[in-house]
Amino acid sequence: MSVLTQQATDAFRALTGNDPEGIWAAPGRINLIGEHTDYNDGFVLPFALPQAAYVAAAPRTDGRWRFRSVDLDETVELGPDDLVPGSPGWQSYLAGVVWALQQAGHTVAGADVVLTSDVPLGAGLSSSAAIECAALAAFADLNGLDIEPLERAKLARTAENAYVGAPTGLLDQAASTLCIEDHALFLDCRDFASRQVPLAVTGAGLEILVVDTRTRHSHVDGEYAARRASCEEASRILGVPALRDVTDLDAALARLPELIGRRVRHIVTENARVLEAVAALDAGDYPRLGELMTASHASMRDDYEITETSVDLAVVTACAAGALGARMTGGGFGGCVLALVRAEQVEQVAAAVTAAFAEASLGQPVTFLGRPSAGARRLH
Ligand code: ADP
Ligand code: MG
Repeated sequence: MSVLTQQATDAFRALTGNDPEGIWAAPGRINLIGEHTDYNDGFVLPFALPQAAYVAAAPRTDGRWRFRSVDLDETVELGPDDLVPGSPGWQSYLAGVVWALQQAGHTVAGADVVLTSDVPLGAGLSSSAAIECAALAAFADLNGLDIEPLERAKLARTAENAYVGAPTGLLDQAASTLCIEDHALFLDCRDFASRQVPLAVTGAGLEILVVDTRTRHSHVDGEYAARRASCEEASRILGVPALRDVTDLDAALARLPELIGRRVRHIVTENARVLEAVAALDAGDYPRLGELMTASHASMRDDYEITETSVDLAVVTACAAGALGARMTGGGFGGCVLALVRAEQVEQVAAAVTAAFAEASLGQPVTFLGRPSAGARRLH
């Protein structure tokens, strides 16, 4: 039994005096390539992280829900009348899952739910989708609900969009639900068709080193809204449903103001890079994947202008220290960098980035191996 499974089980016993009926887990995720393409009906390629949320749960007979977060050391109890969209607090991610299931016509019995997670909160690794998708798996099993994986992801997204009130795309929940070990999930954000693409890095003598720069900028939401607005304006000018539909980039650029043109160039070339990355992975061509990652970073830096000092430094340093390629991942303005590194060079690359950060007074980055892991599942 893993440490977190044990922790969830122990905490469940402490809370209820009984054993849980089951343990479920769902992972955080990271996007290998395809940034800001999701809201342009484009392509993304996330994979599930080893870090995951673990849920120990059992039904109750009184129709109420008790949620405990071991990590926050908080317990909250809700009745049916308390399931109100827009309610604040961490428990809304779980209450939102109950609500979304109910909205979809499912009957959800009361339950005791104990949660613990090693997905860092707010680091862009989607700790929120991890707890939603783990809870959804638990509620589905406890209530005997037969729900397809993609439908589960959509319900978890509804919890986050309509109940918590965070306007996110399907990427996080799809990755947390659908991913399988040693694969990335190629997801078409127009119709949500998906395919598992082999990403067996360790088998190829490689690792994906994740560098959490621990820089988070407060203006991210405003910048995100501005980028979305630029994409919508460009689609309107070009007369296409979404930037996904731009087929002739040069012709499009000739019709757009300079700044919006650069935003469009990022989206169009990034979509192409995702398709190329999928082809490279199908062919086991990891050097090509590395090149595409670094090209993606340059595009985010120069055209989409969503990087900043720390992620740029991490990418440049990782590549100089031997990485096959590196890029920022996530919405931008800080967060995490992924570097594709030969297994024997992991320590040297991590040390080089840490030293460069110290030199530039950027604090201490956190590094870990992002081994492509399994999506939501029942453990016991
Ligand atoms: P991200 O998904 O990038 O980590 P979000 O802001 O979307 O960041 O989600 C973080 C929120 O999810 C936290 O503020 C908290 O409300 C909730 N959350 C995530 N993990 C836990 C946990 N282990 N215990 C309680 N709440 C959690
Ligand atoms: Mg989130």
